[in-house]
Amino acid sequence: MAILGRDTKKCPRCEAKCLVNQLRCPECGLIFSRVEEATNAAAVERLKNKEKESVLYVKKVPKDLKKWKLVLFTVLLGLVGGGYFYVHRWQRGLWYILGFVLWVLCVALNSILVGVWNGALIEILAVCVGIYGAAWIFDVVWVCTNKFKIPVSLPREEVQ
Ligand SMILES: [Zn+2]
Repeated sequence: MAILGRDTKKCPRCEAKCLVNQLRCPECGLIFSRVEEATNAAAVERLKNKEKESVLYVKKVPKDLKKWKLVLFTVLLGLVGGGYFYVHRWQRGLWYILGFVLWVLCVALNSILVGVWNGALIEILAVCVGIYGAAWIFDVVWVCTNKFKIPVSLPREEVQ
């Protein structure tokens, strides 16, 4: 079974290449089996307590979240940051709300904005809205291809 040990995987914390049968990341020391126990709820608690170093961003949906819900939130409510709010990445979610507000303003006040700075303002805003729309499309692709990053952490009692 020597060949088995040659398959590699990526460390979910530092992305270093590790052998599949390795229990611990040689780069950052993460014990892989503990990632399975990590939850998004624990990460929320850690972030509230400003313990950023205990929070890990993983691409695998943790056991307390559902992949189908993440897909649904990202596709249907992604333009207001739905997927980000579902995994509790509020700060990122707020940028989407800002993008959405900007988009609505551009449409609603188009006739006024077109006249500002010889139309330069509406062009700048259009680029911003374009980036925002593209970011949402990337989110959908990332969620569907399991590349969307989700904060997780170990429940507190596991650490002590
Ligand atoms: Zn690592």
